[in-house]
Amino acid sequence: MESYDALLASITPDTGETRTILDPATGTAVGEAPVHSVEDLENAIAAAAAAQPAWAALGHEARSAALLKAADAVERSAEELARLLSREQGKPLNGPNARFEVGACAAWLRAAAGTPLEAETVVDDGETRAELHYRPIGVVGAIGPWNWPMMITVWQVAPALRMGNAVVVKPSEYTPLSVLALVKVLNEELPEGLVQVVSGGREVGARLAEHPAVGKVMFTGSTATGKAIIKSSADTVKRLTLELGGNDAGIVLPDADPKAIAEGLFWGAFINTGQTCAALKRLYVHDSIYDAVCEELTAVAKAMPMGVGLEEGNVLGPLQNKQQFDIVARLVDAARDSGARVLLGGEPDADQAGYFYPTTLVADIDNDNPLVAEEQFGPALPIIRYSSVDEAVAKANALDVGLGASVWSADPAAAREVAARIQAGTVWINKHGAVDPRVPFGGAKQSGYGLEFGVEGLKALGVPQVING
Ligand code: NAD
Repeated sequence: MESYDALLASITPDTGETRTILDPATGTAVGEAPVHSVEDLENAIAAAAAAQPAWAALGHEARSAALLKAADAVERSAEELARLLSREQGKPLNGPNARFEVGACAAWLRAAAGTPLEAETVVDDGETRAELHYRPIGVVGAIGPWNWPMMITVWQVAPALRMGNAVVVKPSEYTPLSVLALVKVLNEELPEGLVQVVSGGREVGARLAEHPAVGKVMFTGSTATGKAIIKSSADTVKRLTLELGGNDAGIVLPDADPKAIAEGLFWGAFINTGQTCAALKRLYVHDSIYDAVCEELTAVAKAMPMGVGLEEGNVLGPLQNKQQFDIVARLVDAARDSGARVLLGGEPDADQAGYFYPTTLVADIDNDNPLVAEEQFGPALPIIRYSSVDEAVAKANALDVGLGASVWSADPAAAREVAARIQAGTVWINKHGAVDPRVPFGGAKQSGYGLEFGVEGLKALGVPQVING
């Protein structure tokens, strides 16, 4: 605990305006976050720009070595980081939550360090020799959400650094402490000035997206904000990677075994208490096994403990903020009022402290119900009945977002055929939401553009340059 206090103290500002961050599970104070201004942003960009050329000059090998040391630093402070993340974001220590997220930070840093990226000789025919290189961009802006604040910061920062850039991070107003603490730990091993955090509001994010000294913005957040960033970045023709909202469909084919898939379906939908971009948010189940899937899923869901994150037994936590709690409550209430059948949950305890919304399953619901058509981003899963695979595919594709999707079947070849017909950046088979630092990840339709992870993710943080001689 002493080192938790030391970590928190190290990110608590001595001067300037601050804001008290409250624990969403208890309403008690977690810590004080600085309230940075647009002027602070200017200073951060200038400092990052000053540090960048020397970092770029180190070359891939030395930069990768520094990233590996940064991964070690994250592991040294893993428990303190996980506790702070749990208190600020709400997610439990255990399950695929806070400790898992901190572990992922180290894993993605190591993957960014270890992924080879060679210059490509595109043509070499005796007359023309054309090579494709990836040069540093300069200063990269990293704007992130509140659901996986540490892991998504690493997804943005690690490839940017590997490719020779400096980074200015703008965390969500809801989870600044997690990002400040993570970057403080990374900076134990990185050159001074190279990674800056500006803990400000939307106006700081908007300025970062339009700033002429910023060459690229990595953005993860809602589709609405993504559109605002496209507009702000237009005058400087800034490069963008946009990881936006999703409303992922899962299709259970008639040959699936309800008992065998129930736990996978549960975690696909309820990881991080449903506050995950690529979580299963609409489940389509064939009529022939509809009741059995509802029954098995209810049994799994009932057994998953929800509560305060620091209590070791819990695997589900509160919603991170009141706004998100209200969205989930509104959508479930409207579904119930429309005649849908609530199998589990749906009644938050008004006397309970914190933004806890119970694990909720809603059956016999129409495809155009708002709980299906809107991104609920919380622990409430609508289960829709279908009778032909064509109908299920059409319903899955009916929305204007397409981040992830999944197909569940005893026959992986049949599942792949259905997967190919779904409009989404990733379609998983018999799992949902499993991300991997070696595998490219990105959205289709209004879920964004650009890829993260793997060699594609590195290329996205460089400026392609052809040398043609
Ligand atoms: P949000 O869009 O409200 O905020 C994200 C960030 O953008 C915050 O840091 C915010 O301060 C900043 N911001 C707000 N207005 C801005 C502006 N005009 N210019 C620049 N920056 C601005 O998103 P959120 O509510 O924090 O996150 C939840 C959303 O993120 C969900 O829709 C979820 O699906 C999505 N998400 C997507 C992915 C993915 O990989 N595709 C991952 C996680 C979350």
